[in-house]
This record gives sequence, structure tokens and C-alpha cells, in this order.
Amino acid sequence: MKKVLVTRKLLRSCEDKASKLFDANLNSNDELYSQNKLLKLSEGCDGILSSLTDKIDEETIKKLPDTIKIISNFAVGFGNIDVEAARKRNIAVTNTPDVLTDATAEIAMLLILGACRRANEGINWVKKENWKWSSDFLIGKQLTGSRLGILGMGRIGRAVAKLAKSFGMEIHYRNRSRLKPEIEEGAKFHESIKSLFSVSDVLSICCPATKETKDIINKDTLEYFPTGAIITNVARGDMIDDEAMVQALNSRKIYAIGLDVYKGEPRIHSEYLKQPTAFILPHLGSATKKTRTAMADLAIDNIDEYFSTGKCKNIIN
Ligand code: NAP
Repeated sequence: MKKVLVTRKLLRSCEDKASKLFDANLNSNDELYSQNKLLKLSEGCDGILSSLTDKIDEETIKKLPDTIKIISNFAVGFGNIDVEAARKRNIAVTNTPDVLTDATAEIAMLLILGACRRANEGINWVKKENWKWSSDFLIGKQLTGSRLGILGMGRIGRAVAKLAKSFGMEIHYRNRSRLKPEIEEGAKFHESIKSLFSVSDVLSICCPATKETKDIINKDTLEYFPTGAIITNVARGDMIDDEAMVQALNSRKIYAIGLDVYKGEPRIHSEYLKQPTAFILPHLGSATKKTRTAMADLAIDNIDEYFSTGKCKNIIN
């Protein structure tokens, strides 16, 4: 039986499955392992089932025991792993695409709705108990007829586009490569982020965290947006320069934000917590029982497939 280090606690049924297939070293206390502890626990293991909270950088990969042949990430994003360093050591890295698309797109829509319709302010008023209906109370921005810019029209971006269209939004997008018309389904492609941002009444960030996308929302690019635009991010916190965003909110250039993910999370820029129009969630994108089960099952299956066949369809390096 292959020995596998599972770095975070999984749902019970998934841990049972992992224990049936492997000699699984589970993390029943759900402790966040330091890099040193992860290295120590990986001694004698054949594979690691990691999560987005494990920073498996080049230095860590260089120190991994030779027995480690696969790192199966329990996420579709893999910005937490230096995949090139892993490739150099012949360690396969896998992810869990598709199974989390719908759940994450739901949260993307919640961010759009929450930010556009001033949900945070509404909740705060309800808690104060001294609110009253009036014709101009908490006037928000309506989705119908608004232009939605999608940065990263991949699996999640396209699912968001489909949902947003049913709310009457007009879809615009930017990818490095244009989609085929039948996949675009009427969405308008933009050759540059300047072009996309300038028509985005609402932006939904759905692209991966890479060197190219780091701080793609910054002091300069925030200027491209129409005044009063709304920016939402369901992908990764790395894409936003938080200081620039806070300034844009304070100046009312940006009307509201909807965030599920943060640079350096679980730390959140303290100014976001003071912004009345910020609708912010604690990284809930894939957090449904159905999806978390499917993700863990796929992460386990990736390891099983790799050890059984030497191949795996979800290898990313
Ligand atoms: P995907 O199918 O690979 O889509 C990513 C899209 O981003 C592609 O269309 C890609 O198109 C585009 N892209 C890549 N680099 C770009 C750039 N520099 N500029 C513009 N577009 C760029 O991935 P997915 O499954 O939709 O997942 C997207 C991301 O969502 C993941 O990487 C993950 O970080 C995040 N996520 C978050 C949660 C959560 O819990 N909040 C859950 C799941 C996923 P091109 O290659 O043509 O550029």
C-alpha cells in the first residue's frame, strides 16, 4: 500500500476512502503544518494530498524525500505549489478541475449581488434595529442591463457568465486567447485589460494567480474603470493591490467590492473591514458538501490513478 500524507482534515467519507486505498497519514486535528513539519511528516511517504494552505515552494520541494512521486492538490488553483520545481524533481502535481466550478460560480454571483445591492450595509442596519423603509434607503446598483467584465473566462468564468446572463447582464471578457464563438456564447472579447475594465460596470475576477496576474488590479488599472464600478474577486487575493483598492473605495472611484479571497489570507486588509460597501466572505467558493466531497474524491483518485497507471489526466506539470 502506498503511503500518503494528507495535510488537512477531509470530510469523514473522504478520509475513509483515502484510508481504504492508501496507508494514509491523516490530520485529525486539522493542524496547519509548517513547512518543516510537512517535510518531517512526508518522510517515508510516496505522495502528498495537499491543500491551498500548504505553501510548497521551491525550497520545500528541493528538501522533499526522494520517495515522494506525487503532490495532489485539493483545489483547482495551484499557486501554492512551485510546479516547475516539482517537475524538475519528477514529482507529478495534480489539481481538481470542473468539480468545483458550479459552487464557486454561485459564490461569484453572491459577491456580485452582495456588492451591487449593498447587502453588508443592509445587514448592519437590520442588526441596529432602527431602520425604516424609505424610497431612497440603501439604493443599490441593479444587475439588469449592467455590463459584467469577466477576467479569466475559463471554467468558472463561463459558469458565472451563464448565471449573470440570466440576471440580464451583458458579458465582456478578457483571456490571453480568445474563445471559439460557440464557447463565447455572445460574450464580447477584449484585447486588453484596459479595454475590458473600461466597460466593466461590474468586474468578476476568475483567472488564476500567476506572475502575470499578480496585482493586476492596481493604482493605474483602477483608473480604467468607469467611476462607481464594482469589483468582485472569487479567484485569489494575489490579483489585487489592497492599498490601491482601499484608496479607490475611499475616493468613490470604486463603489463597492465583493471578495471571497485575500492576499495572505486568513489575514484581511484591516481597511476592508471598515468599508461599509465591502461584501466580504471567508473563502467559501467551493464550500458545499457536494463539492468538497467531489474535490477530495478527485484528489484521492488522482493519486490512485497515478500509482496504478503511471499517468493521470489532471497532471498540471
Ligand atoms: P481555468 O478553467 O483554467 O480558467 C482560467 C482562465 O483564466 C482561463 O480562461 C485563462 O485563459 C484565463 N487567464 C489565465 N491567465 C490570464 C491572464 N494573464 N489574463 C487574463 N486571463 C487569464 O480555471 P478555473 O477552474 O476557472 O479556476 C480559476 C481560478 O479560480 C483558479 O485558478 C482558482 O485560483 C480560483 N478558484 C477559487 C475558488 C474559491 O474558493 N474562491 C474555488 C475554485 C477556484 P487564457 O489561458 O486564454 O489566458
